[in-house]
Amino acid sequence: MAAPRTFVTLPHRHGFGVAGATKPAGLATVNLHVLAAGPLQTNAYLLSAPERKEAVLIDAPLGVWADLQPVLAKNGCSLVELWLTHGHFDHMEGAAEVVAATKARVRAHPADRNLFESPGMMKWFIDMFLPGHPDIRPVHPDSWVEGGATFECLGETVEVRHVPGHADGNVVFYLPKLAMAFVGDSLFAGSIGRTDLPGGSFEVLESSIRQQLYTMPDSVVIYPGHGPKSTIGAEKRGNPYVQP
Ligand SMILES: [Zn+2]
Ligand SMILES: [Zn+2]
Repeated sequence: MAAPRTFVTLPHRHGFGVAGATKPAGLATVNLHVLAAGPLQTNAYLLSAPERKEAVLIDAPLGVWADLQPVLAKNGCSLVELWLTHGHFDHMEGAAEVVAATKARVRAHPADRNLFESPGMMKWFIDMFLPGHPDIRPVHPDSWVEGGATFECLGETVEVRHVPGHADGNVVFYLPKLAMAFVGDSLFAGSIGRTDLPGGSFEVLESSIRQQLYTMPDSVVIYPGHGPKSTIGAEKRGNPYVQP
């Protein structure tokens, strides 16, 4: 199955890649910018719609604002929303800075509320493998999203799918018209999220992937929280951990 768009990596000192989504004449274009940031090289994704002068960020690793701000300025876009796939610190520790600078509306799942709003509870854990890591600033989501919810943003319909098993509050933000799914740490290219952290369960994750991800069309491109993108079809055929 042909990929719905070409992925072009532009030379950029922060490692952004830019993919232009081709749409029929008369409809707005949505561009995807990819950035890995923070101590665990967590992927942040920026969707920009220059004709609407709006953009959305998916996940906020530490320091992401310094890299995003020039991209927003260059595209003439303001950040209207921040979608957090789950509450693990490497996906949310840059959020407070982004929200302070942009007033973006934050969406996340309520099962990870404590991780977003009281991240100090994980300090003992982070100190074990990242000694000296700065204290994590909380983020207070404006909009709690549940599995099955839909909302409109950038002229697109966004479907929320709940995929617990790696983290209780891991959600997928799925844009069916663009065949794009931002999956957090549930499913990776050739792998799956770890299930040995608090709230983790392999059986739950396996069921989430089968019911919420493998039910999407094979052509849907998945954008994970770490590493390269893949497609639903490629993972159904070749993922060694979860088969349909
Ligand atoms: Zn995670
Ligand atoms: Zn992660």
